[in-house]
Amino acid sequence: MHVLKFGGTSIGTPNQIKRAFKIPNYRNNNIIVLSAFSGITNLLSEFIKQSKIGNWIVSEQILKIVEDNHLNITNRLLSSTNFKKIAVQQIKQSKNILEKFLDKRVSLNEENKILTQGELLSLKIIYLFLLEQEIDVALIHAFNYMKLNDQREPDLSFIHKALNKEINKYPSCRLFITSGFICKDHKNKIDNLGRGGSDYTATIIGNVLNASIVEIWTDIDGLHNNDPRFVENTQAIRHISYNEASELAYFGAKILHPLSIVPVQKRSIPVIIKNTLDPENQGTVISDYSIPKRIKAIAAKDGITTIKIRSGRMMQAYGFLRKVFEVFEKYETSVDMLTTSEVSVAMTIENISNLNNISKELSLLGEVKVESNQTIVCIVGDFCNNGNESIQKIVDTLDSIPIQMISFGSSKINISFVIDSEYKIEALNALNNCILEETKCLVNN
Ligand code: ASP
Ligand code: MG
Repeated sequence: MHVLKFGGTSIGTPNQIKRAFKIPNYRNNNIIVLSAFSGITNLLSEFIKQSKIGNWIVSEQILKIVEDNHLNITNRLLSSTNFKKIAVQQIKQSKNILEKFLDKRVSLNEENKILTQGELLSLKIIYLFLLEQEIDVALIHAFNYMKLNDQREPDLSFIHKALNKEINKYPSCRLFITSGFICKDHKNKIDNLGRGGSDYTATIIGNVLNASIVEIWTDIDGLHNNDPRFVENTQAIRHISYNEASELAYFGAKILHPLSIVPVQKRSIPVIIKNTLDPENQGTVISDYSIPKRIKAIAAKDGITTIKIRSGRMMQAYGFLRKVFEVFEKYETSVDMLTTSEVSVAMTIENISNLNNISKELSLLGEVKVESNQTIVCIVGDFCNNGNESIQKIVDTLDSIPIQMISFGSSKINISFVIDSEYKIEALNALNNCILEETKCLVNN
């Protein structure tokens, strides 16, 4: 079985949908995971935000945009009056659900229910589109099999049994479609896998069905070796290892959900990132294989806050770091990067909702300094097999940029720097020269 995922940008307009469902061999032994139509989950999140602050007029406007967008796609994608009618009914039904939140505040449960509407609608509309083309396809509801355990991780054994049960209902069917992103939690309440989570749905399905490949179809020709929004001449990476791809996905390469590598890596299932706008392009293959001796890619993550604690009490003491981390645990804030010296420790966080409380409690342990508007620049490559040559090159390249933190060692495939965000574009461009030098003869590798 192959798992294919069509992201929002591959199914944003009727033409994109038609194009996506023209890619070769999609009807053969495949399960296709669909996101919401492009931009819909953003609109639904904004609807929740506005409803929470009682901005009903804006909420209502957003609902109208969501409704119009689906009606538009329906009218231009489907031709039969009957099928259009079914789709319109579905859109109205979804609107009725959303309208209930126009005059009351939204609870967490209700938020999750709202966020699922995008995926539920795109699945239904595309199902009708495929039926209209007389394609033999079965629709599988994600709520029937995609489930989280009490640790909020996918319950793989449940998913394995439940998904196979669904598939076995259609013994002669070779094509299945299902929703990405949406799931149930361990108490059977509606939940989701986090923003961008349909990649994760695809790789979880890949794992439980032991698929031969997971194809992520998007609107770019693979993972790029730098951020194309800030750097010219970035190139798609042809081969990258699971570990390298995970680092990049976490540190800002938005193409892939950061957790989505885990389920496929466990079973060595290759993932290929392909472009619906250019299906012939070879894309990026993520697998066990990786080209050694290369600085492979650079990614940056903004919105980082650093917290530094300095304390003489740390010297030769034990248990100090435990006390520090207990504070973060108490305020449910995860620490991403960490560096220490004998008398100080520096950490980065992304979620600053409890920053004041955290700083207050940490100041009982030492002198605390907080810096916001920071960026983590992450350089991924193989730093094991080429002495310190690449590391030296990177440090030389960043010569004129003040570096706030450096992390290397826990993984030999990633060097991360924290810098002030104002230097980000300069750093990405300077580092791009290192990549270009190393990959001069490697464009197609
Ligand atoms: N529709 C969801 C989102 O926009 C999930 C996804 O597209 O992967 O986050
Ligand atoms: Mg995505």
